[in-house]
Amino acid sequence: MLKTDLRNDQLESWDRENFFHPSTHLAQHARGETPKRVIRTASGVFIEDRDGNKLLDAFAGLYCVNVGYGRQEIAEAIADQARELAYYHAYVGHGTEASITLSKMVLDRAPKNMSKVYFGLGGSDANETNVKLIWYYNNILGRPEKKKIISRWRGYHGSGLVTGSLTGLELFHKKFDLPVEQVTHTIAPDYFRREDLSQTEEQFVAHCAAELEALIAREGADTIAAFIGEPVLGTGGIVPPPAGYWAAIQDVLKRHDILLVADEVVTGFGRTGSMFGSDHYGIEPDLITIAKGLTSAYAPLSGSIVGDKMWKVLEQGTDENGPIGHGWTYSAHPIGAAAGVANLELIDKLDLVSNAGAVGGYLNSAMKEALGDHPNVGDIRGEGMLCAVEFVADRNDRQFFDASKKIGAQVSAKLLEQDSIIGRAMPQGDILGFAPPFCLSREEADRIVAGTVRAVKTVLG
Ligand code: PLP
Repeated sequence: MLKTDLRNDQLESWDRENFFHPSTHLAQHARGETPKRVIRTASGVFIEDRDGNKLLDAFAGLYCVNVGYGRQEIAEAIADQARELAYYHAYVGHGTEASITLSKMVLDRAPKNMSKVYFGLGGSDANETNVKLIWYYNNILGRPEKKKIISRWRGYHGSGLVTGSLTGLELFHKKFDLPVEQVTHTIAPDYFRREDLSQTEEQFVAHCAAELEALIAREGADTIAAFIGEPVLGTGGIVPPPAGYWAAIQDVLKRHDILLVADEVVTGFGRTGSMFGSDHYGIEPDLITIAKGLTSAYAPLSGSIVGDKMWKVLEQGTDENGPIGHGWTYSAHPIGAAAGVANLELIDKLDLVSNAGAVGGYLNSAMKEALGDHPNVGDIRGEGMLCAVEFVADRNDRQFFDASKKIGAQVSAKLLEQDSIIGRAMPQGDILGFAPPFCLSREEADRIVAGTVRAVKTVLG
């Protein structure tokens, strides 16, 4: 164990002097203006900081600790694996018991027509793998021009060079010279934020499909290789797709021979109440990205699940060109794989996918009941163990608040301050997001709702 006798002020100054934090305002942090919280321990849906504050983590870390904190079965599996075999690589056909077992468990759970899983470390590198495989695929098929990837504004797919480009959030592009030229974006399937308020949901879906069609026509179908999307928009605001959206999009893609990547980093392994979001919404992807829920974040591990159609071409490619020139030292790391095996076993044993559906559904309806009529609540939406509340200045004509008021962030801060509950202020509007661990109980869901009501009343009256 690490030394626990360090003083908080000591850790704080080491932190400021040495630690480059991701997605952080670096200058404010260096000046000591950002919130300071050093997390020490956690159990179930609660985390505890060094000051002894116990917080209900209604975002499961970054929607990843799906089985909840402190699961000794997974900790033991990790320790056993580290003692037995901490590492061996997976290059040139090598495997370990854990990585081979996990590949079988993933494919057993995956949507139909999936063939193999490549293991990486995080969602970003898995999407980077996907893009390389897509380019390779079209080169093997003799279509070197068919390379562009269409993503959606407000989609989140990582923060690497290509994956940060796929991510449709300006913050991830600004001053980084992104997006790269092979990536282009279409509109987000966010019915609440539609431009034309007179549109019905059905008309809006037709509009999304028409926008995609027009983009493909502008770019030329023979230059577009793939479309990537999260079954439920996550970081872009927790937005389930409008009814019929995926069928309409898939119809366009099929007509133009464009591959579909389902980024299931958030939705994979149960968050929607189904094992995969693809099954939940009738999506038939060619590639699936998995990460977070694969190990419930007990160890870093991700994957690219490759469908039959692409797999055949990849095999053909290596017959023609030699071994695939792709791999990381830590691909299929046995400690991550052992965590994955124990995590998926636990999800089955405790029936956590059903619980995500049942208690998640309860959380969503309780939230609607408690806040659905509030004059500043424009939308409450979710699916399974995902829930979002979007605030507006006027719900009658859907007028948004001035962004500088940071209403979403204020509500989230009050929720934490008053009720010790972590809900995430989503970056794309005044949106308070929840994505609790799947083991959330109804009592804990009630607590989240009651706390949110109090926080909303404090900030907005
Ligand atoms: N894809 C989706 C849908 C995500 O939500 C995320 C992270 O939140 C990623 C990809 C990137 O994963 P990572 O942060 O592990 O690189």
